[in-house]
Amino acid sequence: MNLSAVWNFDFLSPNRLVFGWGRREEAGRLAKSLGERAFIISGSRTLEKNGHLDELHRSLRAAGVEPVAAGCISREPEVDDVDRTLSFLREHRAGAGDLVIGIGGGSAIDLAKAAAALMTNTRGNSVVDYLEGVGKGLTIDAAPLPLFAIPTTAGTGSEATKNAVISSYHPPFKKSLRSDQMVPRLVLIDPQLSVSVPPPVTAWTGMDAITQLIESFLSRRAQPIPQALALHALEFAVPALIEAYENGHSRVARERMAYAAYLSGLALANSGLGLAHGVAAALGVHCRVPHGLACAVMLPVALRENVATRPAEIAQLGRVLSGQQRSSESEDIDAALQTVENLCDRLRIPRRLGEIGVRREQIPELVRSSRGNSMSGNPREISDEELHQILERLL
Ligand code: NAD
Repeated sequence: MNLSAVWNFDFLSPNRLVFGWGRREEAGRLAKSLGERAFIISGSRTLEKNGHLDELHRSLRAAGVEPVAAGCISREPEVDDVDRTLSFLREHRAGAGDLVIGIGGGSAIDLAKAAAALMTNTRGNSVVDYLEGVGKGLTIDAAPLPLFAIPTTAGTGSEATKNAVISSYHPPFKKSLRSDQMVPRLVLIDPQLSVSVPPPVTAWTGMDAITQLIESFLSRRAQPIPQALALHALEFAVPALIEAYENGHSRVARERMAYAAYLSGLALANSGLGLAHGVAAALGVHCRVPHGLACAVMLPVALRENVATRPAEIAQLGRVLSGQQRSSESEDIDAALQTVENLCDRLRIPRRLGEIGVRREQIPELVRSSRGNSMSGNPREISDEELHQILERLL
């Protein structure tokens, strides 16, 4: 135990988490505690086809909450998606007594989060005005409409975080609006909702969660509570993800991953991230690589690049991930690197950027777009020149 580090931190989390297989039937009663009309932003046609959205509408009505379908998004949200959703909410005069429900993956929850925040913060003309690094620097000062998050992928942990990630392809950027006030008020995690997620998406979203747990643990803004949560989740997340990928109907595997994803959100919201997430944003916007896949491709190299700065922590990860202690720190470090690489192989994650469509001439723009909140959490400074070399070696 390092007794020289001083502690000074805040810890943010949703007001209430309701977790359990089949507990989606409680959605109406829970929503009623936040309002009487619910604008629903959903994240997958599958939820429509398998009846889960109808179920949600029925549960809301039974509890005396009027459901209003406000949109469905099955890709990562863009500026126009947020602005369009806001127009819809304004047309319906959303305000006091209303809530917003995001039911889906990180994309739907982020869209719901952004819309809920901008309904009450009206100084800008577009969500762009509020985005870090590209906007007018407007801030979320008023409390958003109450947000009820129901995640259906086990990955982003967006249900526990204070930001919404919004993309633009012309001009290219992937940035967040962020405020402590944007943390969802209420979270319902019913892991059964993730059973229909296909194996590749299970792998990518699960790797996003694992990358968030590891990067927040190593971050230069790391804090004790998120670190403890990350170590706890990493004790079971690797075997759970392999099981969820290979046997999507496994209740225990889906439960463990849904829980790990939530903890990864708490960890990232309070501690920040690092190199893998910095580059993942750039890969999303320039090469349209799904977020979790981009994190997965970058995680092994991000871990290796930080060994010299965080040897003790990476050794600790090695012990937790492998469930055993070896005779030296360097062997524990090797165990961490090896476990992550074996996991990527097992989930059929490509090793090289060329395999996910990156071309050499894109590297300068990838380097430029990697800078932002995530990269600023990396344990050590990485210059543009060094990042260029890292990406070139990975081609
Ligand atoms: P996603 O929400 O885009 O979903 C991936 C795919 O799975 C979509 O096609 C979706 O329709 C489908 N899907 C969702 N639930 C399903 C279900 N139950 N059954 C079948 N299909 C289903 O992917 P994601 O990885 O969850 O979210 C990615 C977005 O979240 C990115 O924009 C990323 O940047 C963002 N993100 C946000 C935060 C945050 O803290 N706000 C953190 C990490 C990532």
